[in-house]
Amino acid sequence: MNEQQLLQFDRQHIWHPYAALNADFPLFAVERAEGVYIQLKNGQQLIDGMSSWWSAIHGYNHPALNQAATQQLSQMSHVMFGGLTHQPAVELAQQLVKILPEGLDKIFFADSGSVAVEVAMKMAVQYQHAKGETQRHKFATIRSGYHGDTWHAMSVCDPVTGMHSLFAKGLPVQYFLPQPPVKFGQAWQPAAIQPLRDLLATHGNEIAGLILEPVVQGAGGMYFYSPEYLVQAKALCEEYGILLIFDEIATGFGRTGKLFACEHANIVPDIMCLGKALTGGYLTLSATITHQAVAEVICSGEAKCFMHGPTFMANPLACAVATASLKLLLASPWQQNIQRIEQQLRQGLSQANALDCVADVRVLGAIGVIEMKEAVNMHTLQPRLVKNGVWVRPFGKLVYLMPPYIMSNTQLAQLIEGTIRSLKEDYAQ
Ligand SMILES: *Cc1c(COP(=O)(O)O)cnc(C)c1O
Repeated sequence: MNEQQLLQFDRQHIWHPYAALNADFPLFAVERAEGVYIQLKNGQQLIDGMSSWWSAIHGYNHPALNQAATQQLSQMSHVMFGGLTHQPAVELAQQLVKILPEGLDKIFFADSGSVAVEVAMKMAVQYQHAKGETQRHKFATIRSGYHGDTWHAMSVCDPVTGMHSLFAKGLPVQYFLPQPPVKFGQAWQPAAIQPLRDLLATHGNEIAGLILEPVVQGAGGMYFYSPEYLVQAKALCEEYGILLIFDEIATGFGRTGKLFACEHANIVPDIMCLGKALTGGYLTLSATITHQAVAEVICSGEAKCFMHGPTFMANPLACAVATASLKLLLASPWQQNIQRIEQQLRQGLSQANALDCVADVRVLGAIGVIEMKEAVNMHTLQPRLVKNGVWVRPFGKLVYLMPPYIMSNTQLAQLIEGTIRSLKEDYAQ
């Protein structure tokens, strides 16, 4: 199939994320990907600034991950998990228990991040139900969050960017708190937790869980807030019998400089969701993890079990690759890599502050964000980024970089330069 045929059929028949069918949005066909490079079908090489949405932390086509997949493929790609188990699932669970915050050791493997969030929310409701708190079925969260696209995950996404008005008739209505006003690195202000305290004082007994992306809000706004908010939230959740759920699907596995973002606050949630980088970007897999006390209560409830079980639960191929990815990460100098990338992003992106079109530049770990004053024009900016040799996928006002951890200083310099040059060209029009 040549490039034109491929693009033409795609446009007519295949949906893309948050896109219209048959629209003239810029679309590029990929031939292969290796290391930090994505090679287009037209031969052009792009430096990857996205890690395929937080996931490809080791880069593409990694020999160790390829080997894990190939080896598992020759054993079995999949068997059902009802009544059966296998080494890939057990090994991955062992690896996770070793690195997860103390006590988080009861693991539910599911197929995607959104499903992991659904599972976490169902766990919270079943927990409350088993405790006789049957009136607790609501969730609280903060604005500008993103927790996935399935029904209940969507209900805790930001109501404006998540277009809750469109789905209002069928979507559960949750409690939304303001985005924590104290940014990461700023001095804590006690007033920042008052909205949560007020909410719990009035509606605390209707709420099953508080769900947060710890420290870094991803797709909802690429915003970094004070870890102290989490410490305070944890204390309030304990006081009111509410489960604290951390969605670490984007932040897990080193991205913020800690293995898990909750380590910035030194606290352990009741339930944690993992996904994205779990398999190093190879296959879709997620995990929802809780501790003994929650698991025990759930299993003592009316159903006597946890009520969820996907067909592809703990897929062996995905588990085998995830174990290999974790081993690779832990054996690598990942902290140094993240620090090095953080420093270079800070230094390199600071030039963008001088542009009239830029409102803010911020960096945390291996995440660099340029917030524009207005939403970017993707029709012109996306092809320009590609022309300048970088794969960056802005949304709204946000132009952001989250490179694979293996990116060299030279490659990162090219990525930063290509991104800023594209912005300058686009706004010089
Ligand atoms: C991406 C993401 C999800 C959803 O994961 P999918 O695998 O796309 O369903 C949920 N929460 C956060 C924080 C995410 O970044």
